[in-house]
Amino acid sequence: MQKILNYINGQLIEPVSKSYLGNPDPSTGEVYSLCPDSDAADVESAVAAAKAAFNQWSNTPSEKRTRIMTRIAELIESNLDTFAKAETIDQGKPLWLSKNGEIPRAVSNMRFFGTAIEHFASEAHPMGDHAINYTLRTPIGVVGCISPWNLPLYLFTWKIAPAIAAGNCVVAKPSEVTPMTAFLLSEICIEAGLPAGVLNIVHGLGVKVGSAITAHPEIKAISFTGGTKTGEEIARIAAPMFKKLSLELGGKNPNIIFADCDFEKMLDETVRSSFLNQGEICLCGSRIFIERPLYEKFKIAFINKVKAELIVGDPLDAATKTGAIVSKIHFEKVLSYIELAKQEGGNVLCGGNAVKPEGRCNKGWFIEPTVIEGLSYNCRTNQEEIFGPVVTLTPFDTEEEVLMMANSTQYGLASTIWTENLTRAHRMAAQIKAGIIWINCWLLRDLRTPFGGVKSSGVGREGGWEALRFFTEAKNVCIKL
Ligand code: NAD
Repeated sequence: MQKILNYINGQLIEPVSKSYLGNPDPSTGEVYSLCPDSDAADVESAVAAAKAAFNQWSNTPSEKRTRIMTRIAELIESNLDTFAKAETIDQGKPLWLSKNGEIPRAVSNMRFFGTAIEHFASEAHPMGDHAINYTLRTPIGVVGCISPWNLPLYLFTWKIAPAIAAGNCVVAKPSEVTPMTAFLLSEICIEAGLPAGVLNIVHGLGVKVGSAITAHPEIKAISFTGGTKTGEEIARIAAPMFKKLSLELGGKNPNIIFADCDFEKMLDETVRSSFLNQGEICLCGSRIFIERPLYEKFKIAFINKVKAELIVGDPLDAATKTGAIVSKIHFEKVLSYIELAKQEGGNVLCGGNAVKPEGRCNKGWFIEPTVIEGLSYNCRTNQEEIFGPVVTLTPFDTEEEVLMMANSTQYGLASTIWTENLTRAHRMAAQIKAGIIWINCWLLRDLRTPFGGVKSSGVGREGGWEALRFFTEAKNVCIKL
């Protein structure tokens, strides 16, 4: 059975404890590899390696950092098939999605931040003819990056790339649920000539490795993506230590459909925004609000399309549109929310059940894409994050009403609006409490734009200069002329 190893000080090594966690393939339910069950001792050696590497890396000219990061991007790209298959086996998403979405995006992350650093500049503030201020932006030192299981390599590199581009050294932890592609990345970093200690990857549980990273006094900034409860725990420990914090947390995003929308475009995209990656994307629109005159037409067309197109099955099969749910625990959580929705008076229009595909995936964790109507906007099903292939339909009559319902959750990550009325689109965009608004599209991403949420969806922004600013400290220098 394949053993994943930690990547510390440029070496692939076993955890100090020598113990491992079984890592299952969600499409079969069988353990297929072993993930290090690391602890604070491994984090300690990773921090020591990062500290030792910092002086040289932070003084490495940006062109050289760019060269190495571009090389990492090229090597991931030339191993696209290996990475895509590994991600699919580890996470459960369809292979076409790993190949066309997840892994190419990891390549883009490395390339984008690797080259962005060559254009990163700081400001100057002249004070007439008697003084000038300029801002130095220096790397922080050793920083921590902790990522979740839903888009494993995509989100891992989204943090690591700006951190190392800016000259920091990193102690990173991928999710223990999906550690494989982070391990493949460590092999690539060695091949690309990334100096030892610049990136250290410590595998293991959140409560052991994640909390050791959070609490380590030498780690001065934490970039975290994951659940809101975990974010709270990290803030509780890190805030009194005055660490810089970027927290990208949960969501319960509204998808608002007005009767004047371009129906066909909206329908195609709403199927995607509801169920892509089994609904396990923090940006998925899980609460669909439909203007009442369009409600019945939308409901029928949506259900027909979901039933006809979203084939659930073996993630390695090209025909599969909906793969496996990432873990048994999460599978049970999603099913329990479907039960809750029924208890709350919801009417399941399609799906609602676990699926046992024939053949090799017979013991895997699969759930039918599920559409529910008849729930109040403020019931638990409509307020809590499910993070699976489950959406609810709710009719609305006025802009005021839908705004109130859209803004009623503790979350504020993203929102989608479908309308051909430009004035209304701008008016709604300004009033929805979320960090990201898509109008007549979904998940259309430009890596330069600020990315993040408000309320319990997080603190801080990633992407573009925001990320490079997060991973640097600004220092003002004032010179009297
Ligand atoms: P999670 O919070 O359980 O775990 C995320 C990471 O934190 C994992 O690596 C985990 O091991 C680690 N961790 C767990 N406990 C920890 C602790 N006490 N201290 C430090 N680290 C700890 O989240 P998950 O279940 O892996 O991911 C799903 C969640 O992530 C959903 O809520 C989803 O909305 C959110 N998410 C948000 C975004 C975003 O950009 N806002 C993107 C993707 C996923």
